[in-house]
Amino acid sequence: MRRLLAIVALLGACHPAGPGAPPVTDPIPRPEDPASGRPDVHSFSRPQEVRATRIGLALDVRFDERTLAGTATIAVARHDEQAPLVLDTRDLAIQEVEAAALDARARDAPLAEAELAWRSTPWALGPVEPHLGRPLVIRLPPGADVVRVRYRSDPNASGLQWLEPGQTADGQEPFLYSQSQAIHARSWLPCQDSPGVRTSHDAVIHAPAPLRALMAADPDPSRTNAAAGRFAFTMAEPVPAYLIALAVGRVEFAELGPRTGVWAEPSVVANAAYEFSDVERMVRHVEQLYGPYRWGRYDVLVLPPAFPFGGMENPKLTFATPTIIAGDRSLVALIAHELAHSWSGNLVTNATWGDLWLNEGFTVYIERRILESLYGRDRADMEAVLGRQDLDDALAEMAPEDTRLRLELAGRDPDDGLSDVAYEKGALLLTALEHVYGRERFDPFLQSWFSTHAFGSVSTVQFEAFLKEHLTSRFEPLSGQQPVDLAAWLDQPGVPADAPKTRAVAFGRVDAAAGRFADGTERVHSLPTATWTPHEWLRFLRVLPKDIARERLAELDDQFHLTSSDNQEILAQWLEVAVLRGYTAVEPRLEKFLRTVGRRKFVLPLYRALLARGRREDARRIYAISRAGYHPITQHSLDAILGVG
Ligand SMILES: [Zn+2]
Repeated sequence: MRRLLAIVALLGACHPAGPGAPPVTDPIPRPEDPASGRPDVHSFSRPQEVRATRIGLALDVRFDERTLAGTATIAVARHDEQAPLVLDTRDLAIQEVEAAALDARARDAPLAEAELAWRSTPWALGPVEPHLGRPLVIRLPPGADVVRVRYRSDPNASGLQWLEPGQTADGQEPFLYSQSQAIHARSWLPCQDSPGVRTSHDAVIHAPAPLRALMAADPDPSRTNAAAGRFAFTMAEPVPAYLIALAVGRVEFAELGPRTGVWAEPSVVANAAYEFSDVERMVRHVEQLYGPYRWGRYDVLVLPPAFPFGGMENPKLTFATPTIIAGDRSLVALIAHELAHSWSGNLVTNATWGDLWLNEGFTVYIERRILESLYGRDRADMEAVLGRQDLDDALAEMAPEDTRLRLELAGRDPDDGLSDVAYEKGALLLTALEHVYGRERFDPFLQSWFSTHAFGSVSTVQFEAFLKEHLTSRFEPLSGQQPVDLAAWLDQPGVPADAPKTRAVAFGRVDAAAGRFADGTERVHSLPTATWTPHEWLRFLRVLPKDIARERLAELDDQFHLTSSDNQEILAQWLEVAVLRGYTAVEPRLEKFLRTVGRRKFVLPLYRALLARGRREDARRIYAISRAGYHPITQHSLDAILGVG
């Protein structure tokens, strides 16, 4: 009852046509996920009372003001006729809220510009809560089942990055893109921003010429007028808010296959098409393993280099960093990863951010199965060994309670859960199950997990029950195998001692060569690098001893031109090795790299390496020049690391 009182108190202090003074101090309790009994501690929304079912966006893209301005129209299902609609917002300027009843015609039509009998309705913004933003509480008149919120996003919205022309590959036009995971959608649209709430959506986006708007949705040609800067979209499949995505820029398209293609800036699109030429084949391989691809098209949008992640699995349209374009297709594991999310994450979603491993751990596992299927076991093994090394590095630095798969994130930013534990420990658990029960049992089990929960959101509790019913209580472990101690994996810190050992034959040879080179028994020109893949190079750089002489690094650089490598993975690893060992010839390249690339995986370790060498002033000086070009998410991480702001 207390929650109802709090909401009523909040609405009592507002007035119909304007923003009510935020009056309540009572926290608004969170919804509970009935499947797990765990609340989604990162959403104010109360879907068990009033649930958003469809969203229609009509937005103007204003580069001069760095805002999106317009309306979000939200259809709802009312399970409690007395309850208000509660939406998540962060830094949104709410101007007006109206309500209406959907008529028969509007029920099947796009919502974005729906003409209905709109009437103002009372609303109020609650107090700001750390990490979460503010609840927008809207009174629903009797019979109303749709609201229209007129609003503007903040120029510093955490889910948007507005790039100057100089920050793009072509340098001609500005660029905008969204990054909504984990809870940044609320900074550019009011919504029930919980991974447990799925809605379909449609949109009309007005963008200035000659730019094009793209969304993670199907284009709607019947309502689009590109020459007039009007772009319409529909997304019939229901998705959580964190998968709603928008990009606006000067981009061109290249076809890869019947249902696959790539979007990129004009100067990038040909290289991107070459790099991603295996994508159509990849989709077919995953379908053979885990069932049909359910999203129609699969396209990739290559973003400017400020993008803070490797990729974002926005459905139908993966957003990707340009740092994976290496010229030799060696870094397409990232595309395999984002494509795998079409099953794990997008089709079957973690119900709360504390269960992120159900999304990312499954995805890393599938990613390696795709690589094995396409390129053979050696390639997948090398990726797994590098991943295990990342995990061990992370475990050494993290608080033990954060190294469990099932996380408690109350009071914390859900991005805190985005660590190698969810990805690599999660994948390792699935690998352990695969080893114990064999692929003949485990592959159908996974396929049935996806088909049973398609377009739903799941908790770790549900996984435990499903696993028991469909695998562990049904089949005996293969001979010589012991059952997996699931509780240890899920709720204990670290990695269980009987976790599968990850080995890559090729790395044994690389390790030996690195050892001989470091101690001087092998010269630089006799290193057996002729057949090395980038993975072998990464391994070689990672296992070089901490105290290797700088002259040895200079020899490597002279021989292999590592400081001018076009492969950004190798370059970033090399720069880190060089900074940590005081090899200063890389300094100009290091600064240029940090000024132009915003991918967190690369820039965080490089700033940390500077700090580890006692070079705080250098780190802060470079950051001062580079910060404005980084995405808010990257800025947030680096502010904390460097003690800025
Ligand atoms: Zn992922």
